[in-house]
Amino acid sequence: MSKMHSGPQVSFLCDQNLGRLARWLRIMGFDTEYMRTWDDDAIERARAAGRILLTRRRDFASDRQSIVLESDFLKDQLGYLDKRLKLSEMLQPYSRCSICNASLKCVKAQDVKNLVPEYVSTTRETFVRCPHCLRIYWKGTHTVKMVEAMHRIFSTRVRS
Ligand SMILES: [Zn+2]
Repeated sequence: MSKMHSGPQVSFLCDQNLGRLARWLRIMGFDTEYMRTWDDDAIERARAAGRILLTRRRDFASDRQSIVLESDFLKDQLGYLDKRLKLSEMLQPYSRCSICNASLKCVKAQDVKNLVPEYVSTTRETFVRCPHCLRIYWKGTHTVKMVEAMHRIFSTRVRS
């Protein structure tokens, strides 16, 4: 379980057309940056850091450090990435903030008591918090649904 702290080794930069994908990759635990507008400098920095550029631009098809996503649909995009990189074998849900991509830190229930609904603070023991935006995450019904959705996305691909 010590791998939990390092996170998956693969990391991404999503172009401006792939904001939804970026959010989902973070939820799945992948270090994923997102650029709101096309930015050659950001791409250069990402490449230097070993990130894979995910883009809808076909002129990057022959670029070895890029993956071109043909589909507009999230499910197909994730399915394609799974086929190329075996994402489904590296999932670490809720290790990363879906909003700002920071690694989430564990916090105790007593430390978030006044920050989450009472029924949540009294029934959960572990919480994680984003050190950047301070958003708090906990295991609950929405987490379970998210994880189920991930498995559905990947198993659909396997069946097809
Ligand atoms: Zn955050």
